[in-house]
Amino acid sequence: MTGKVWLVGAGPGDAGLITVKGKAVLEAADVVVHDRLVGDGIRAFIPTWARCIDVGKEAGHHPVPQEKIQQLLIQEARRGQRVVRLKGGDPFLFGRGAEELEALKAAGIPCEVVPGVTSAVAAATYAGIPVTHRDYASSVHIITAHAKAGGEININFKALAQLEGTLVFLMGLTALPRLCQGLIAAGMFPDTPAAVIERGTTARQRRVDGTLATLAEKAQKQQVAPPALIVVGQVVQPKQEWNWLEALPLFGQRVLVTRAEDKAEELAAMLRALGAEVLVFPCIATQLLEPVLPPLSCYNWAVFTSPTGVDCFFALLKKQRVDIRTLALAKVAAVGASTGAALERRGLRVDVVPEVYDGVHLAEAMLAQMNQGDSVLIPRAEKGALGLVDRLRAKGMIVDELPVYRTVYTQGNWQPTDIDLALFTSASTVHGFARACLGAKVRAICIGKQTAAAAKSLGWKVKVAQEATLAALVKATEEEANHDN
Ligand code: SAH
Repeated sequence: MTGKVWLVGAGPGDAGLITVKGKAVLEAADVVVHDRLVGDGIRAFIPTWARCIDVGKEAGHHPVPQEKIQQLLIQEARRGQRVVRLKGGDPFLFGRGAEELEALKAAGIPCEVVPGVTSAVAAATYAGIPVTHRDYASSVHIITAHAKAGGEININFKALAQLEGTLVFLMGLTALPRLCQGLIAAGMFPDTPAAVIERGTTARQRRVDGTLATLAEKAQKQQVAPPALIVVGQVVQPKQEWNWLEALPLFGQRVLVTRAEDKAEELAAMLRALGAEVLVFPCIATQLLEPVLPPLSCYNWAVFTSPTGVDCFFALLKKQRVDIRTLALAKVAAVGASTGAALERRGLRVDVVPEVYDGVHLAEAMLAQMNQGDSVLIPRAEKGALGLVDRLRAKGMIVDELPVYRTVYTQGNWQPTDIDLALFTSASTVHGFARACLGAKVRAICIGKQTAAAAKSLGWKVKVAQEATLAALVKATEEEANHDN
């Protein structure tokens, strides 16, 4: 059966600017064919099973020619795949989306287009430039200034000079001097405000202001590099009222989240909400183990040492058709707040949570309420050294450990680069990252002592959260980011 192709606009860089429809399509993709302009943050929405094919173009180079891209889309669809052709910004705005649509139609491939938020508007917005404003500009014009190597740019400067609206030039960085001269020669005032916006809506966003007379030199001095666009007109002003982005505490930070895929999104969303550019790069995954459950009614205690342990224990109950009420006699203990929350979501009130979230303190807190010879069930990871079991046994308790999951390392199909801060929620995420990105050194924010020790042993700079919760981890991230400034 023939598959289908979706031409999807990924937005200008910030992962939050993909559309709801675009994200839904992406989450169901078998194959993703993407450009260089697609922000790394978008990878959070690409399923791990999907094949990613990078056909990105470097300025001046075309690693994969347009015809080849079209052939690839047709070929994958004919193999029955759900293909997402993911493009920066909007697929039709200087994105050659129409050419791809034509080729797909001609080949009889079912096809849909999902528009995207274009950089032409969004990069300006994020840089504090409203593209129209009743006092300054009543129209906006989007122009390509792409010139073939050494060739002339094909722009009707006379017509543009008469518009009095905002002019936005894409692909214009190399042509910037000729562009400004052309507009001045066509009659625009040399002191017309103009700005270049580099890597708009990402953590590396930069805005350089000038006028038609000065901008080219300023941009060159400050070594502005693509992707960048140029905005010309009275809306280019240094108005503080229009600058909303820089007030966000994590703006300008590229933050890596290394948790397992099913756990990453909650943390990623917290960080995005504070303005960070978040790269989700799962370094571990959970494998459910399937031990035969012992009769639960004979335990006085059930102890949980991680939210994953809770999830896997309940998955086992379901698989083995065991009723949770067989555990009715047991008291329930959790090592920390998030494990406790995972239990409460399942309708189990927790009897004991230690003040300090570790095995030793958990044992102390439990012992205060235990009787000699109590039997204890601990569903936990295959490997888990908490100091909990030994302490309970030393006091005469009968402890059954039940390995319900195993943590395995995962290898993404890409390599994150240029990371400001990397977040680790367990020692295994540290080891997983070190394997996936051999030799990479990062500034690590760690959820607790054990995680921090693993990170320090690799020679990384480490900051530890005040307590082992996601909220505290995010707070530590903010502090570390401010430390910079
Ligand atoms: N379809 C895209 C544009 C593709 S043309 C869109 O709708 O945004 C490529 C040009 O877009 C680049 O040369 C640059 O001028 C502009 N561009 C794309 N992303 C950008 C970004 N994040 N910041 C600034 N300019 C960007």
